[in-house]
Amino acid sequence: MGNGRSLHIVGAGIIGVACALRLQLHGYRVTLIDPNDPGMGCSYGNAGIIQIGACVPVATPGVLRDILHMLLNSDQPLAIRWPYVLHLLPYLARFLAAARSSQVERITQILANTLNHAIDGFAPLLKAADAEHLFTKTGELYVYETDRSFEAAKSAHELRRRQGVNIEYLDARGLRVLEPALGPIFKHAAYLTDCVAVSDPLDLTKALLNAFFAAGGVHLREKVVGFEQVDGKVHQIVTNAHVHPSDAILLATGAWSKPLAKIAMISRFHSLQDERMRLKIKQKSTRWPTSSQKRMDFVTTLEREFEDLPQTFWWTALNY
Ligand SMILES: Cc1cc2nc3c(=O)[nH]c(=O)nc-3n(C[C@H](O)[C@H](O)[C@H](O)COP(=O)(O)OP(=O)(O)OC[C@H]3O[C@@H](n4cnc5c(N)ncnc54)[C@H](O)[C@@H]3O)c2cc1C
Repeated sequence: MGNGRSLHIVGAGIIGVACALRLQLHGYRVTLIDPNDPGMGCSYGNAGIIQIGACVPVATPGVLRDILHMLLNSDQPLAIRWPYVLHLLPYLARFLAAARSSQVERITQILANTLNHAIDGFAPLLKAADAEHLFTKTGELYVYETDRSFEAAKSAHELRRRQGVNIEYLDARGLRVLEPALGPIFKHAAYLTDCVAVSDPLDLTKALLNAFFAAGGVHLREKVVGFEQVDGKVHQIVTNAHVHPSDAILLATGAWSKPLAKIAMISRFHSLQDERMRLKIKQKSTRWPTSSQKRMDFVTTLEREFEDLPQTFWWTALNY
């Protein structure tokens, strides 16, 4: 498909590296550009869940109430830099407009259509990298402490079900049988049976990267600072060290994408930096990846202990 065309990918996180290997498999000559070690950005410090059931958007009816609760309580995971609020207003207005029921149904469908391909999409990459062992079908648990919070979450789970997501509801007893590590405060759970857990996100990026290198892929340790364009099309990439002619670029710089997208004149771009949430992660405490919607915490099955992430996990109800 690529017929030996050259393509540069800016950013070597999981997105850049996965795209690099996939495009290489399709016949492109791919060069990755990143000044840092691949996979050491956001792709390093995450929960490692392929959340194929995560098709319900964050913006749903009632989200405003939840946001206000989070902002007014310092132990909650959402924080806004107040001097930034004016700048955020247009985004917040679009966010709230997207929270209307009709929009939520539509967006859920679109997300489900994408997420349905997540595991199959990875398959050829895992095969090329001989890394199938990094994926385990564990399912994912959403746990609830009260009847009320469980009932409130049901509409989202029913939306997921309508998109073909397999969900089992568990009572306190069923939950304890499935996951004995959880303490007695949880009265209900929804078990999304088909989610996959990655044993270590960094190992995944490295495995795909090694396959990419083995097939002749190149990584330049340079920082992209600009793009030269002709007729609105990027034809040269400017880094802190060189200028590289390029047939095509793919921008995969995660939370750093906003300034680069601006330089490349990509419009309608919104950086995640503005609404990044803080999630707390604890490794290897439960058999299944588990999240408490109330606390916005994840317990994962990851094998790596993050040295640089605070281990401030406070589900006192966990039995360890
Ligand atoms: C706490 C937490 C938990 C999460 N849990 C999950 C989960 O369970 N499942 C899931 O699917 N997702 C999860 N995510 C989201 C997931 O981690 C990110 O979506 C994903 O890692 C983004 O990958 P990326 O390649 O886009 O970005 P990154 O991994 O951040 O990579 C971007 C790369 O771009 C490079 N770069 C930046 N600027 C330049 C430049 N000018 N020139 C060249 N290179 C540049 C950086 O050095 C970096 O290597 C989680 C996120 C967080 C924060």
